[in-house]
Amino acid sequence: MRNTVEIVGVNIDTLTFQEAEERCKDFLQQDELKMVFTPNSELLVDAVKDPSFAHVLNNGDLVVPDGIGVVLASKFYGIPIKERVAGCDLMNSLLEIAYTQERSIYFLGGREGVAEEAVHNLKQKYPGIKVAGFHHGYFDQDEEKKIIDEIIKNKPDIIFVALGAPKQEKWIWDNKDKLGAKIAMGVGGSLDILAGRAKRAPEFFRKAGLEWFYRLLKEPKRFFRMLKLPKFILLAFYDAKTR
Ligand code: UDP
Repeated sequence: MRNTVEIVGVNIDTLTFQEAEERCKDFLQQDELKMVFTPNSELLVDAVKDPSFAHVLNNGDLVVPDGIGVVLASKFYGIPIKERVAGCDLMNSLLEIAYTQERSIYFLGGREGVAEEAVHNLKQKYPGIKVAGFHHGYFDQDEEKKIIDEIIKNKPDIIFVALGAPKQEKWIWDNKDKLGAKIAMGVGGSLDILAGRAKRAPEFFRKAGLEWFYRLLKEPKRFFRMLKLPKFILLAFYDAKTR
């Protein structure tokens, strides 16, 4: 049974990082594709405005809080989430699990060359890791059909989709019955980190719950996107109090 807390209309799993890892291992034993989503405050504000996005998130099989704002908001509802489960860390765990269990992976997304660089780096870290394929994330409808055919043919166990939110979550939802994999996870900018094109916040910022601040320092153009963080806190506070 899942323990979740509904935050601004989206059910978020209240588990620890380790429990999330265990759930993913369990998914790999099952037949049907499981969808893993990692919303942060910004995405939850988008989901309030876009019910179709909220619907997709609510159909996720594992929906973890990739943001300190979401962990904080859970307290308003009296169902505190144990800890932040960063999408980037969960992706790294899944890669390690894929390697040790000899499961194959597929990367979809990022600019031309990013998925390829991610595969290159991964092969250095995990020699012999099974890569079923990769494709950049800027494709038209004809190319999309070819990508899906390639995925069906190469049968990856885990598909990491980095098309930005909500595109990646909606893409997984729209194609879940065709893909034939065990897990499809929306990973956003984590693929750029794996490729070495972007840097993760240093541990100090992560531990202090200030990863968002580090990203703001590195990419000031994110400022307007980040205004969604206080907006999210207000929305969640109001939602929890008016239940
Ligand atoms: N992306 C993509 N196709 C698109 C839009 C975005 O492949 O049509 C990729 C983009 O190149 C980047 C990733 O999606 O590698 C994450 O995008 P975003 O900045 O929205 O995500 P975040 O950094 O918030 O996770």
